[in-house]
Amino acid sequence: MTHPALTRLQQGLGALKADHLERRRRLLESAQGAHVMIDGQRVVSFCSNDYLGLAADPTLVAAAHAALDQCGVGAGAAHLITGHHGFHQDFEAAFARFVRKSAALLFSTGYMANLGVVTALVDRRGEVFADKLNHASLVDAAQLSGASFTRYRHLELSQLEGQLAASAAPDKLIVSDLVFSMDGDTAPVDALLDLAERYDAWLYLDDAHGFGVLNQGRGGLTERARASDRVIYLATLGKAAGVAGAAVAAHESVIDWLIQKARPYIYTTASPPLLAACLLESIRQIEAGETRRKRLRRHIAQLREGLAGLKLGVLMDSATPIQPVVIGANADAVRLSQALLQRGLLVPAIRTPTVPANTARLRITLSAAHSADDVAQLVETLHALA
Ligand SMILES: *Cc1c(COP(=O)(O)O)cnc(C)c1O
Repeated sequence: MTHPALTRLQQGLGALKADHLERRRRLLESAQGAHVMIDGQRVVSFCSNDYLGLAADPTLVAAAHAALDQCGVGAGAAHLITGHHGFHQDFEAAFARFVRKSAALLFSTGYMANLGVVTALVDRRGEVFADKLNHASLVDAAQLSGASFTRYRHLELSQLEGQLAASAAPDKLIVSDLVFSMDGDTAPVDALLDLAERYDAWLYLDDAHGFGVLNQGRGGLTERARASDRVIYLATLGKAAGVAGAAVAAHESVIDWLIQKARPYIYTTASPPLLAACLLESIRQIEAGETRRKRLRRHIAQLREGLAGLKLGVLMDSATPIQPVVIGANADAVRLSQALLQRGLLVPAIRTPTVPANTARLRITLSAAHSADDVAQLVETLHALA
């Protein structure tokens, strides 16, 4: 039996398929890494965010085993009830020290952290100023807050300044990805901080893709931003850190406020403490991870040199492990992604509405877990397909 509401939903699914916008999940049948088994096929993967190759690292796995015997599997309660374990606490202290902020708070995911931070800092009377290419979770967070939501063109700080000058909101919050997830470019942190200071705004920077990778792993903040009480820093911990969760680092009063007000922190079960134990080990590996970062930087340079003059698309200007090749039409990007997969190379096609219309792209991400041969194979295949 069907009913009209279900029929409309099925028509919606049909329309997505017709527009090449239907999403499907691939089945991963191995640990995460540069070489994975996916949908029954062995492939070299150029699409994980496991930039340092820590997701299946033996030291993190050993930390999980050890913690499991000590604290079991589930946290069993929210942080403000009885779910706040010593591992959570120790991780927060280690994280704050590492990124050189005075305090930190561990959330279950980056998505939840963004909802929590933005809604705790601004309400209906406030105004959020956001780069147009910010991550979807920051867009959702601004909308959930009920604040006025003002967006500026990607990296156009003169437009942002005009918007700040025109604002009468008592609470102003500038939010930006630090490394933009679909383009791989970075926000001008000190210039944003200048504006935050001039207009008495908070500056919230989402460094999902920079933490663990940039500045000896400490992420994309400048020294000035680390020292500033207005800057609130987010690292997600499922990417380079290889585990799960997200940490917000800020002045201790901001962290105290989040504990009181951030609903996605308060009204949810604490993440399993064994994950926090893994994260403690991950911070150690990141801190001692210059060899991994050096390898990653070599891969980035090798790819960029190799793809200079590529015929089938335009390699975007990025110095980070996110190296997109803009193709244009959704269908063309999908076709190329499929051709690569037939040759054992997994590179996702990122389409509208995740990226602006006619900028569908192959989004290549590199990891320290790749070998120089993996990168060479991708470069050769892309040239051959053109
Ligand atoms: C991945 C990502 C998030 C979400 O983090 P999760 O921990 O995966 O929920 C937030 N912001 C940016 C920029 C991201 O890339």
